[in-house]
Amino acid sequence: MPLHRTPSSRIRAVRGDAAGPVRRSYARVPAPARTARRAAAFTVTLALASAAATGCGHGESKPASSSSPATPPVAPGSPTGTVGTATATASPTQDLNRFQAQVNKVTAKDLAHSWHSGCPVPPSGLRMIVMNYWGMDSRPHADGRLVVNASAANKLTGVFRKLFENKYPIHKMVPVDAYKGSDFDSIEDDNTSAFNCRNATGSGSWSQHAYGLAIDINPCENPYVTASGHIDHPRCVKFGDRSRRDPGLIHAGDSTVKAFASIGWGWGGSWVGTRDYQHFSSNGR
Ligand SMILES: [Zn+2]
Repeated sequence: MPLHRTPSSRIRAVRGDAAGPVRRSYARVPAPARTARRAAAFTVTLALASAAATGCGHGESKPASSSSPATPPVAPGSPTGTVGTATATASPTQDLNRFQAQVNKVTAKDLAHSWHSGCPVPPSGLRMIVMNYWGMDSRPHADGRLVVNASAANKLTGVFRKLFENKYPIHKMVPVDAYKGSDFDSIEDDNTSAFNCRNATGSGSWSQHAYGLAIDINPCENPYVTASGHIDHPRCVKFGDRSRRDPGLIHAGDSTVKAFASIGWGWGGSWVGTRDYQHFSSNGR
């Protein structure tokens, strides 16, 4: 039996990332309930963005434009250092066309829905990378936020630098807490995320996401596909056709797979049987 499930994972079976060819199944939530959850999630997102904005007064993932000043990437928690071209005192006119990232500490309060007592890594072992990312609208976006294991934060920042420089487009990047820890809702919103303290389906062991050592990228364009070909999110079913070349699709040997391989991370798209095209992890599972 799975251990230490989060409240949300009690009502929705969790992902089979580490469990091999196990079909994911989710208890469907009626549309009105989902709408309410979405509204709540939006409020959380706004609260996070508001906390992060430190008076700059903007929402999350604001597209850059030549007529509006960019907002430096900041987030809850105390900065623990800067990475790459990021600075803690970035100018409001900084160039979003350059990759910038900052690695911040997080607290249990920051991870209200994704972490709980009993999780294998304490909040002190996690970090939030705040970075700009290339959007599906072919523009750079500020305030991408990804919670990962502290031991991997700098290496992953290097990976996302490569993705940015390759103009690999990402639809959205906020912590799964914005969806109250619901993996299903995060995927439904095509959100890129990493840490989530949850078990792998049927294994009773933690998913690599519970360690912050797995990342799901553009999960709609890169779906989890069971051995029989099932995809759980209807609007993402078309992306089961991996010969498609839509923006954001990840293919074997492409620059995104290579970027993760450069730090030794494996890709779920190379699994046999069940394939998880969105999933990259430190141990390849
Ligand atoms: Zn995953």
